Amino acid sequence: MALLEVDDIHVFYDKIEALKGVSFVVEQGCIVTLVGGNGAGKSTTLKTISGLLHPRRGEVRLEGRRMSTMQAHEIAAIGVVQIPEGRRIFSRLTVRENLEMGAFTRKDRAGIAGDKEKMMALFPRLSERWNQVAGTLSGGEQQMVATARALMARPRALLMDEPSMGLSPMMVEQVFDTIRTINEEGVTVLLVEQNALLALSMADYGYVLESGRIILSGKGSDLLDDERVQRAYLG
Ligand code: ATP
Repeated sequence: MALLEVDDIHVFYDKIEALKGVSFVVEQGCIVTLVGGNGAGKSTTLKTISGLLHPRRGEVRLEGRRMSTMQAHEIAAIGVVQIPEGRRIFSRLTVRENLEMGAFTRKDRAGIAGDKEKMMALFPRLSERWNQVAGTLSGGEQQMVATARALMARPRALLMDEPSMGLSPMMVEQVFDTIRTINEEGVTVLLVEQNALLALSMADYGYVLESGRIILSGKGSDLLDDERVQRAYLG
């Protein structure tokens, strides 16, 4: 059984149907990407999975369990955690406090302390800025805080919305290296990206979304070679 199943979801903003029957699966342990241009419905899909939006039709399941009627905090508690686009962090709190907020539903103090150590190793830059107020960090560093905070919840599936946005090429590379490391440690990743080249080159599987519908799917490497993808997204 797939870890996540998105089954024919129709999502509306008032009368506008932003998702017109989107279905896909995310297998346990994979990196899956959803690519597409502006307004295709990528963010809407992630927000529906994480419970910020609810489908009018269709449903989302985690290992067969229906999630689409749950509230966002319940979904986070069962291990599906989203790093929002624009990486909203607690800008007045320090790096350390932000990470602690990520673990607020956990009671295992030793585990939390151990995970903080792990985050310092995964993001050495953050360990140097441990007691700095997060609002004063660079864009790339704030992305790291958002990622580390999400990981502190020990997610099973991590949902990432445009992690490359606004970052320098070097920082983007670092963020993607980190995504690979996180995945190797057993976290399933669903990645939404406008940067199709980057996303498809690291994803096991990809889906192309256009105007609220999935129009193509396949292995990341196959989609990269697909003429239609190249014409539309890779120039
Ligand atoms: P981008 O890469 O530009 O962020 P996206 O693929 O993430 O695009 P969505 O943000 O999911 O696209 O938007 C899908 C459609 O839904 C768009 O037509 C958008 O205008 C519309 N939409 C998104 N949010 C709202 C909202 N809060 N109210 C009304 N319409 C919305």
